[in-house]
Amino acid sequence: MSKAHFGLIGLGVMGENLVLNAERNGFSSVVYNRTFSKTEEFLNGRGAGKQIEGAKDLREFVEKLERPRRILVMIKAGSAIDSVIETISPYLESGDLLIDGGNSEFRDTERRVLELEKKSFGFIGMGISGGAKGAMEGPSMMPGGTKNSYDAIESLVCKMSAQVEDGPCVTYIGPGGSGHFVKTVHNGIEYGIEQILAEAYDLMKRAGGMKGEQMADVMARWNETEELSSYLVEITEACLRVKDPVDGEDLVEKIMDKAGQKGTGLWTVVSALELGAPVPTIYAALNARVMSSIKDQRLSAQSLIKSWDLKPFEMGTFEDGMAPLMDAVVLASIASYAQGMELLRIGSMQYGYNLQMPSIAQIWKGGCIIRSQLLGRIQHAFHNNPQLPNLLVAPWFADQVSLRLPGLTRIVAGGVERGIPLPCFSSTLDYINSYRTGRLPQNLVQAMRDCFGSHTYQRVDKEGIFHTEWLD
Ligand code: NAP
Repeated sequence: MSKAHFGLIGLGVMGENLVLNAERNGFSSVVYNRTFSKTEEFLNGRGAGKQIEGAKDLREFVEKLERPRRILVMIKAGSAIDSVIETISPYLESGDLLIDGGNSEFRDTERRVLELEKKSFGFIGMGISGGAKGAMEGPSMMPGGTKNSYDAIESLVCKMSAQVEDGPCVTYIGPGGSGHFVKTVHNGIEYGIEQILAEAYDLMKRAGGMKGEQMADVMARWNETEELSSYLVEITEACLRVKDPVDGEDLVEKIMDKAGQKGTGLWTVVSALELGAPVPTIYAALNARVMSSIKDQRLSAQSLIKSWDLKPFEMGTFEDGMAPLMDAVVLASIASYAQGMELLRIGSMQYGYNLQMPSIAQIWKGGCIIRSQLLGRIQHAFHNNPQLPNLLVAPWFADQVSLRLPGLTRIVAGGVERGIPLPCFSSTLDYINSYRTGRLPQNLVQAMRDCFGSHTYQRVDKEGIFHTEWLD
């Protein structure tokens, strides 16, 4: 019997769909799952009648694969990956390739690439985005590792990934853990945009008195604009239209207001803090999830701390696409991308990843959760200026900021006056206002630091390092 082209470990939501994708694209496959009953279930179900066979253990799995073996590991990130590597390694031969497609921490990937390359196996850390549907139909893929290892999987991933007008949504990202670093930042941007849309929903509902269908109509309208046409706006519309089959009310209102997280948002913020990259909109989104999780405390505080009447305020009309609210959503979304791209740029320099910013924008245009028309503009901006320090100063984006800043300001002011928390909108406003302010008040911070700790300061009017005895 001929050997299979491709192996998959881990028949979770993603693995199951990815192996069906590979098979559909002509790669006969072998699957292994820790719990064998799941393998049987899959082979008798969605995998039936396909060029996919199962293996009971990792030795049998490896034996069924052609060389060099291309093995995608789609399991829970963390120690599970190390344990699979340890178990499978004795059966692998020189040149075989393991691809970790899960959401691994990029420093773990950095270590694994080094360890496995020493054993002459290839190791690719590949971020994959697209959820279950994307995994099946074509996700965005972010593979990092050695270029040789990437070359060995290029034909596979180019066929499996989403396709957009200028090519497949996969490219060689760079060495070491760069693929997982880029996926981490992708997820940080995703956190930002999800929270931005949730804030728009909260304003429409609480300050505008709108119902699910009306808000969904606004989302549908926004999804037709170049600035907001995106997968996340599209699914927000869908979520807002669904009714509870029991009473016909908006289903979203029945959902507990606690948002989960699995680590990538946190890692984005931690990396940003370590690298000195400002990501306030993304941080605000992460913090909003943390705040959401302390539901009991919020409920008791609600009865203790006085609130005031929620008077409606001017957020535009359906006819004008809720113009100021749209301004806020557009600018906060741009800020999420701008902060993520800046983090990538700084991380690339620090870690020696040599990230190609236009290519990253290109592979995010299809398949992934943050795909949007804006990414075409982002690709273009970095193509025109690969050294662009921040998206906000690229001509098209600078025009958007100038045009929409009054709308964002009105929305934040309206929300603040009514006690509605708008973490992403307000931090975006601060971010833009800080970024466009030539002189910030940190001169006073420096004075205080010098006063209590003799930390010294620089002057704007002459060169040198200065210290003053402030309290004399
Ligand atoms: P998952 O729920 O994260 O993982 C399920 C799979 O992991 C099962 O096959 C499970 O085997 C296996 N597994 C768990 N611990 C293991 C261990 N110690 N040794 C061997 N196998 C183990 O599944 P998923 O949602 O498909 O995600 C897979 C990876 O992709 C994760 O890193 C996830 O963060 C990432 N990811 C997920 C999505 C998504 O939309 N779900 C999108 C992008 C990336 P058993 O059946 O035996 O329990």
